[in-house]
Amino acid sequence: MQGVGYRPYVYRLARSFKLTGWVRNNAGAVEIHAEGDSECLDAFAEALFLRSPPTARAHLLARRVAPLESNAAFSILSSAADGERHVSVPIDLASCADCVAELHDPGSRRHRYPFINCTQCGPRYTIIRDLPYDRGNTTLSEFVLCSTCALEYATPEDRRFHAQPLACAECGPGIHWQEAGHETVREACALDAAVKALRAGKIIAVRGVGGYHLLCDARCETAVLRLRHRKGRPAKPFALMVPWAGEDGLEQVKLLASISQSEAVSLLDVSRPIVLLPRDSRAAICPSVSFGLPDIGVMLPYSPLHHLLLEDFGAPVVATSGNVRAEPVLTGIGEAQARLAFIADGFLHHNRPIARPAEDPVVRIVAGVARPLRMGRGTAPFEVELGYRIDIPTLAVGAYQKNTIALGCENRVIVSPHLGDQSTPRGRAIFAQTIRDFERLYGILPGRVVHDAHPQFPSTRWALESQLPATAIWHHHAHASAVAGEYRIETPMVCFTWDGVGLGPDHTLWGGEALLGFPGNWRQVGSFLPFKLPGGERAAREPWRSGLSLCWQSGIPWRKGELRGGALLRQAFDHNLNSPMTSSVGRLFDAVAALTEVCLESSFEGEAAMRLEALCKSPEEPIAMPLTRDEHAIWRSDWHPLLASMLDGSQTQSIRAAQFHSSLAHTLLAQALAVRNETRVNCVGLAGGVFQNRILTEHALQLLTGAGFEVLIPKALPLNDAAISFGQIIEARALHAATN
Ligand SMILES: [Zn+2]
Ligand SMILES: [Zn+2]
Repeated sequence: MQGVGYRPYVYRLARSFKLTGWVRNNAGAVEIHAEGDSECLDAFAEALFLRSPPTARAHLLARRVAPLESNAAFSILSSAADGERHVSVPIDLASCADCVAELHDPGSRRHRYPFINCTQCGPRYTIIRDLPYDRGNTTLSEFVLCSTCALEYATPEDRRFHAQPLACAECGPGIHWQEAGHETVREACALDAAVKALRAGKIIAVRGVGGYHLLCDARCETAVLRLRHRKGRPAKPFALMVPWAGEDGLEQVKLLASISQSEAVSLLDVSRPIVLLPRDSRAAICPSVSFGLPDIGVMLPYSPLHHLLLEDFGAPVVATSGNVRAEPVLTGIGEAQARLAFIADGFLHHNRPIARPAEDPVVRIVAGVARPLRMGRGTAPFEVELGYRIDIPTLAVGAYQKNTIALGCENRVIVSPHLGDQSTPRGRAIFAQTIRDFERLYGILPGRVVHDAHPQFPSTRWALESQLPATAIWHHHAHASAVAGEYRIETPMVCFTWDGVGLGPDHTLWGGEALLGFPGNWRQVGSFLPFKLPGGERAAREPWRSGLSLCWQSGIPWRKGELRGGALLRQAFDHNLNSPMTSSVGRLFDAVAALTEVCLESSFEGEAAMRLEALCKSPEEPIAMPLTRDEHAIWRSDWHPLLASMLDGSQTQSIRAAQFHSSLAHTLLAQALAVRNETRVNCVGLAGGVFQNRILTEHALQLLTGAGFEVLIPKALPLNDAAISFGQIIEARALHAATN
C-alpha cells in the first residue's frame, strides 16, 4: 500500500465520519484503529474500499475488535515494524490528471515544471534505493525540500502529504540539453532546444523514468531511416509516443489508428503501456516506422517531462529504448552519453538518478482481453498471490530471451520487470543487480534457486554458481505451470506450449508440445512430427533453413532454398551434423514464411511469424494435418501436407498464410479432442510466444470453446518467456511438495 497516499486518504475519510483513532504503516500493510458510533464505523468501513485512491489496489487482510483507546482525534502515527513482514515495492505511476492540470496552470507554482508529482503519481520503483519507502531512501534524498515543499509534505490535508518524490523548480531536479558544438543549456531553454532538434529531423536521447529513450519525428522518413541505420535495427517496428490531446487524451492517437474500447482503456492505464494498434492507412507517419506491418505500438506521455516535450512538438515521435542492440536500457548520464554518442545528435538529461532500469510495458488485445507482452515501468514488480504457501523462499532465474527473475515466499511470487536477454555483459549485470535488489528490498533470503534445464544459458550457470540448492525445470513445464499458477489450477489440464525452441526431456528442441497434467506432473501427450534444424541456432534468424529442411525431409525440390543451402549444408543435414531435431511451431512458421517467400531471412525475433500473421485477410479452409500416434503414445501432427500448398505460387501469399493459420488452429483442436477422448480432461491452456499471434489464438479459442473446452490464456503475465521465472517457482514448489 506504500507510495499511493493511502494513510492521508484514511485520515481524511475517518475525520469526515467524525471517528477517532489512528492509521499507520505496519511492515508493508496499513493498520487502522477507528472508534466512533457503530453507524459511522460501518459507513467508514464501506467507504474505505469504495472511495480508495485508484492506484491503491487495496484489500482487507483482517478486521477485529480492539480495546478502546479514547484518543482525542484521528491521527497518522509513524510506522510500526511488528507483525509479519509483507513488503511491497511500489511501482512507477504515470502523471495524474491533477498534476497535469497544474503543469499547465500559469498560476501554479509548478507551472511547466518537468518533475511535478503527488501521492497519486510519479516514480517509485525506479528511484527506490531501500525500504521503507521514505524520501531518504530514494534517489531524491540529495534534494533538500524548500520550505514550501516541506510544508506540503507535512500537511495531512495536502495532496502532496508524504509524497516522497515531491519537488519543485526551486528545490527539485532539473533538465539540461547537451549537443556537440553547442553550449549546454538548462530548464526551459533545454526543452526548447530538444524540440528544435526534433523539428530539424535530428535524433535525440531523452532521460525518462526508467531509462533513456531515443526519439525522432515519426513523420520524417530520413530521420527514422537514420535512426534505423545508426541503431542497427533494419526492420523491427518502432513504438510511438503521441501527444496527449483532447478531452480523453486520445485525439491524436485516433488519427493514427482506429481503437476499440479495450484498447482505449489500456492506453489510459496508469502504467501507460505501449499498446499494439491496427494502423490507419491514412496515418501521417512515415512507412519505415513499421515497414509494412499493420500494427503500430503507441503510448501516451507518462511523465511531466514527456507531456511537455510532446505537447511542444505537437506530433507523434518514434520512442525506442535508449540501448545498444539487445542490452537493457541505459540509465546513467555518463554511460548514455558515451554509448549513445553515435546514435543521438543531442541529449536531454535530467539529474534525478535512476536506481534501476524499467522499460516501457507492452500490451496487445487478444480475444478481447489486454494481454501483457512485456512487463516494465508501471506494471512490475508484479505480485501474484497463490492459494498455498511456499515453504522454502525460492529464487527463479528464468530462461534466456525476454528474461525476468522471480522470488517466491509465503503465499506470493514477485516477478521482476523485463530484463532483456542474457547475451551481453550489461544484460548479465542488470540480471545480477536485480536479484540482489529484490532479495534486499523484499527481505527474502532464498533457500533454493530454480533455473532452466538448458545447461548453456547464462542464468543456468549463475544459478549453479550461487551455492544454493538448485533445481532444473524443463522449459515447457515452466510454461505450463505458469498458466496453472496464474489461474490457480491444480487439477489436470492440457497445456499447449508453442514457442521458438527450448530443451525437452528427450533432449530434442521442443516448441510444439501439448502437456497433460498439473504442476509437478507434466507428461507430453501431443506434438508435431519432428524435423531437423540445419545450422542449429542460425535457423532462428534464417527461416529459409527451416523451409529447406522440410523440403529435404519430404524429397520435394525447392530451388530458392537450395541455392542458399548448397551441398555442404546438405551433407551436414544428411549426417546429422549441427542439425538438431525439433518440434517447434515457431520454426514451422519460419518454414512457411520462407516457402511462401514472405520472409527468407529475419532481422528480428519473430519477424517471419509477424509478417505471416499480417498477411491474413480472411479465414481460409484448413489443410488437414494427419494426427498419428508414435511409439511413445504421443499424438503427432504431420506437417507434410502443408508443403505443396505453401509452395503453390498460383495462390496469393495472403491465402496461403491464412490457410496455414487455420491448419494450426484445427490441428490444435484435433489434439485436444484426442486427449479428451481418453482422459476426459476438458481444460486447455495456451502458453508460449506463438500465441501472441492474434489470428491463431482467436481462431483456436473459437474452435475450442465451440467444442465445449474451458480455455485458459494468460492475461496477468505474458505468455512468452517473461513468465518462465514465475512458472519455474510454481513447478519447483510442486515437485518438492510431492517428494516431501
Ligand atoms: Zn499527481
Ligand atoms: Zn520545493
